[in-house]
Amino acid sequence: MKRYENMDAFWMPFTPNRAFKASPRIIERTEGVFCYTDDGREILDATAGLWCVNAGHVRPEIAEAIGRQALELDYTSPFGFGHDIGFEFAERLIQHTPGDLNRVFFANSGSEAVESALKIALAYQASRGKSGKYKLIGREMAYHGVNFGGISVGGLTPNRKGFGPLLPVDHLPHTLDLERNAFSRGLPEHGLEKADALEALIRFHDAATIAAVIVEPVSGAGGVILPPAGYLKRLREICDRHDILLIFDEVITGWGRLGSPFAAVEFDVVPDMIVSAKGITNGIVPLGAVFVADPIHDCILDNAPEGAVEFYHGYTYSANPVACAAGLATLDIYEGESLLTRAGGDIGRYWEDALHSLRDIEQVVDVRNYGLIGAVQFSDAAGSGKPVGGAFQAGCYNNGVMIRAMGNIIAFSPPLTIEKAHIDRLVGAIRMTASELF
Ligand code: PMP
Repeated sequence: MKRYENMDAFWMPFTPNRAFKASPRIIERTEGVFCYTDDGREILDATAGLWCVNAGHVRPEIAEAIGRQALELDYTSPFGFGHDIGFEFAERLIQHTPGDLNRVFFANSGSEAVESALKIALAYQASRGKSGKYKLIGREMAYHGVNFGGISVGGLTPNRKGFGPLLPVDHLPHTLDLERNAFSRGLPEHGLEKADALEALIRFHDAATIAAVIVEPVSGAGGVILPPAGYLKRLREICDRHDILLIFDEVITGWGRLGSPFAAVEFDVVPDMIVSAKGITNGIVPLGAVFVADPIHDCILDNAPEGAVEFYHGYTYSANPVACAAGLATLDIYEGESLLTRAGGDIGRYWEDALHSLRDIEQVVDVRNYGLIGAVQFSDAAGSGKPVGGAFQAGCYNNGVMIRAMGNIIAFSPPLTIEKAHIDRLVGAIRMTASELF
């Protein structure tokens, strides 16, 4: 197939543009758990795109639903007008959310959904007369998208620096602890006390100034950092004790990644809001959402003047009908194929054993996994001074597998439809790449 000759106009996101364009990696076609390159190679997609194509690529049911919707009702303003498919989709979504998270605020991406959640938190505090509670607590190594609120609560230094003073926030310590928890299977045993750092932050700032705490139940882009057993429950207890909202950013952990519809369900901790995106439409059409607890929604509505807009926030494409159609078709697949719990079964155990078999590679200092997410961390010395992840990603790509790289960590989050033979292929490609690089 012809490769597009002039690549200059597209300024690619989170990409070293000049290096990429000197040596491009072009995907021409996708299907199931595979991508196909322009030079005809089959690549196993061990990252489900960007942690999003949970039901696998090119599902005709979703494509057809998108086409049908675009031919029937393509767009209408969501400000003061409605359409059936928006209400139907919201109703279907909340069948999967825990507790009283029964209200859905739609956005178009994870980043927008994060901003929406943070603003809902502040709007809620103000609506009950506590506008002094405006500070936000995030966590080191967290990724909450790239907008100003998200990078403020986010904890990845390169994404924050150079963008000015940001919002008034503070950060919990991350929970990665290789000394005590290396090669844990599932949740790490040690580190529950790291949740107590929240008590210290609250003492420092005063609960009367804090609106909400936001965490990814499992940090994805930070390198697949798992919460120590009991950690999320303890955060919930501390937030309750101090009248602070708890938000879970489940953009990655939602929709079956950990073996339940949400991490909140898997770990039996109900936050006040869940942020969702990615797998909500199987990654095919951009869509984000915030699942909001009834009392928060009700408080904001109850305290608004009769007949007035209650929340000055929303997007041209909130509940875009075509995105809702994609989402409904996606839910049909998740439910029909029991994909939301598949990672918790036999395939998840196979995944765990397969990844942990890599521990015999000399440069590997940790293997982490839960459900169908995982990471391998290499020693700082593995790349002779340079983080080895980038070279490892390139090597795996040459060896027929797409993975993610962050520093000395490589991460995987395959489509939930993955089979054992594909997992063997991933592990084989990692071994082969390690033998080439080390
Ligand atoms: N939150 C988390 C936890 C994410 O992983 C991501 C994306 N990787 C986002 C938010 C941002 O989502 P988007 O790229 O759709 O804006």
